[in-house]
This record gives sequence, C-alpha cells and structure tokens, in this order.
Amino acid sequence: MLLSLRLGRENSQVRERTVVDESLDYVVVGAGPAGLQLAYFLQRAGLSYLVVEAGSGPGTFFTRFPRHRKMISVNKVHTGWDDPELNLRMDWNSLLSDQEKLLFTPYSDKFWPNADVFVDYLASFVTEFDLKVRYDTRIERIERDGDFVLTASNGDCFRARRVIVATGVSRPYVPKIDGIELAEQYETVSVDPDDFTDQRVLIVGKGNSAYETADNLTERAAVIHVAGPHSQKLAWRTHFVGHLRAINANFLDMYQLKLQNAVLDGAVEKIERDGDGYLVSIRYARRDVLMQSRYDRVIFCTGFRFDASVFAEDCRPALTISDRFPDQTSAWESVNVPDLYFAGTITQGCAISRSPPAPSSTVSAMAYAH
Ligand SMILES: Cc1cc2nc3c(=O)[nH]c(=O)nc-3n(C[C@H](O)[C@H](O)[C@H](O)COP(=O)(O)OP(=O)(O)OC[C@H]3O[C@@H](n4cnc5c(N)ncnc54)[C@H](O)[C@@H]3O)c2cc1C
Repeated sequence: MLLSLRLGRENSQVRERTVVDESLDYVVVGAGPAGLQLAYFLQRAGLSYLVVEAGSGPGTFFTRFPRHRKMISVNKVHTGWDDPELNLRMDWNSLLSDQEKLLFTPYSDKFWPNADVFVDYLASFVTEFDLKVRYDTRIERIERDGDFVLTASNGDCFRARRVIVATGVSRPYVPKIDGIELAEQYETVSVDPDDFTDQRVLIVGKGNSAYETADNLTERAAVIHVAGPHSQKLAWRTHFVGHLRAINANFLDMYQLKLQNAVLDGAVEKIERDGDGYLVSIRYARRDVLMQSRYDRVIFCTGFRFDASVFAEDCRPALTISDRFPDQTSAWESVNVPDLYFAGTITQGCAISRSPPAPSSTVSAMAYAH
C-alpha cells in the first residue's frame, strides 16, 4: 500500500511524501527504454511493480544525448515486407508490445531519427499501456533489510522483493590523466561550431560520440585530431553497432585525404596550460615516442559508466570491465546480490565479454533481451 504523508511547505506548496509499507514484487529504477519495456511485461504478467524515474518524463537520457540529436539506431520504415518480425530486424527503436500501432516507425520516416521524437514515442508508450511510472523521483539509496528499501532524494521510500536497475550509464567515464580538469567533456561542451572557428581541437575517444563531435566541427575548426590508445574499431568490420558507424565516419575520409584532420593511436598522458591553449603529451601506441602538441581546445568523449554509489555496502553489486558495468549472471542477476537484476545498456557487462559481443547497446537489442 502507498501511504502519503504531509510534509512541510516546499516552494509554497504542501508536498506529499510517499512511504510504501508493503513490498512490491518489483521496483524498476529508470524509465528509459529498458525500464519501460520491463514495466510492460511485468504489468502483462500481473505482477505488482513501480518504475521510479529521476527525470520529469520518460527517456531522460535521450533528452540530452546524443548531443547532436541524430540517433544511430536505424529506422527503416519501407522494407517491402509484411512480416512483423522481419520488419523489426530493421527497426532498432521500437519497444515490443502486442499493439502494432505502438511501433516507432509511424513516429518518424527518417532513417536516422531525431532523439526528440524517440522521447515522444516513449511517452506515448507509457500512456497507451497506462504503465506505473513515478517521475521526479531520483533514488539515492538502496538498502536491504530482507526486502530492498529504496529512498529517493525527495524523501519518498519504496519496498520491493526484487529490484531491477535500469539506470543506464549515468556517470561520465573520466580517465585518470594528469591535467584532465583542464579538458572539456562531451556532456557539456558547446555544440555550436562557431565557438571553434580557426581553432586546433583535440578530441579524446574513438567512439561515436567522439566522431559525432568532430563531424560537427569540420566546417569551422582549423585542425581536428581524434586520439585514443587503441586502433579504430569500425562497426562495418566488427559488426558491433556500438563501434564507429559509417554515419559518423566522414572524418576518416578527411584524414585519409590529408585535410588537416588526423586519427592518432596514442594515449594522452598529460595536459598542461600553455598561454591561451594547452600543451598535450600523447604517447604513441606502437612506438615508445611521446608527442607534444598544442591545442586550443581538448574535449573528452570517453563514454559513460554505471553508477553504483546509491547502494549500501551490504547490497552493493560487484562491478566488471574496469568497474564500468555491474557484474551479472546470464540471467542478468547480480553475481553477489540475489534478487538484484539489471536491464538495458548496463547489461553490456554480460555482452562485451562475449565474442562477438551481443548487441545490448541499442534499444532494439534490449527490448528483445527482455
Ligand atoms: C552518447 C550516446 C548516444 C547513444 N545513442 C544511441 C542511439 O542513437 N540509439 C540507441 O539505440 N542507443 C544509443 N545509445 C545507447 C543508449 O544509451 C541506449 O540504447 C539506451 O539509452 C539505453 O536505455 P536504458 O533504458 O538502458 O538507459 P537510459 O536510456 O539511460 O535510461 C536510464 C534512466 O534511468 C534514470 N535514472 C538514472 N539514475 C537514476 C536514479 N538514481 N533514480 C531514478 N532514475 C534514474 C535516467 O534518468 C534515465 O531516464 C547511446 C549511448 C550514448 C552514450
């Protein structure tokens, strides 16, 4: 049962605090595509559940990312086929349901859809199936006293026999590098190319976010270098959708045709102030040579990681892959905390260690996984 307790005045309004005195079957943390897909199936199975979401609506991640708004999950509307399963193979954004009208394809005819449209789609999914989602509820503590007890930053409190964490990769992965605090980050750097006119720019990271950032600057920046310690992984060679996709790969063309842009295989070791700009030391991957180069801007696009800080010590899940993802069984349960499950992009902890990796890094793949 949900109890509402009257609290003091907050912004001139009386706020109600929710305390659950009875355990739900499931609390799902996060109303991204993974959390909503699970909510659909939990509801259909007649289980008691609640989705709690930090943002004011579903799909909070996609309201900000990708920064340049073009999704890399394809939306092929015209396939020439009637077979719904076959069509889903080429529609990477739809959640699964028993209603064809709740596919993503009617929402956009763009092969590379805009992320804002995807957020609208998720909102319709919630409304259409009347899913139980509580917004503006950021879980800041997960403890265990037999059941799980989840406390939100607004004071709301929930109990559940099982918790499914679908919080995505919510913390930027910032490598430990001398002078990293001088660099800008993908999450907050300007996306206005005019701010980079005639500048020398170093972008650290070799994933889609790095190349999406580089592509956006090509008309204005004088020189762009993209650097990372490993050789470039190309999705069309590895068949892993999370590696560099052709839609973000214009930059490689400019590199090969010697147009002042370059891809460097090397690790950034140090960033120092140098007048108005920065002196960056990069150690080449295949030669023991330290290159020093001056840049006006240094931008880190080094990805994101799972945030385990909300868990109390006695139910903190073990992590894997440089502590970026929770370590989990093949049933997506924590290896060390029974009844704690994971969904969505953080199940990559399962997938990346396989070869070839299962594509749990896209909306479509996680929908199928459930
Ligand atoms: C830069 C970038 C671009 C990407 N572009 C694409 C793309 O175009 N197409 C694609 O398919 N995939 C893309 N991905 C992968 C993408 O992250 C996943 O496909 C998708 O977001 C994963 O869904 P999810 O539900 O697991 O996580 P998310 O979509 O991240 O959802 C997690 C939800 O949990 C909420 N939350 C987090 N912490 C808490 C808390 N403590 N309490 C309550 N709520 C919380 C968040 O607000 C969020 O709404 C991209 C990834 C990155 C990093």
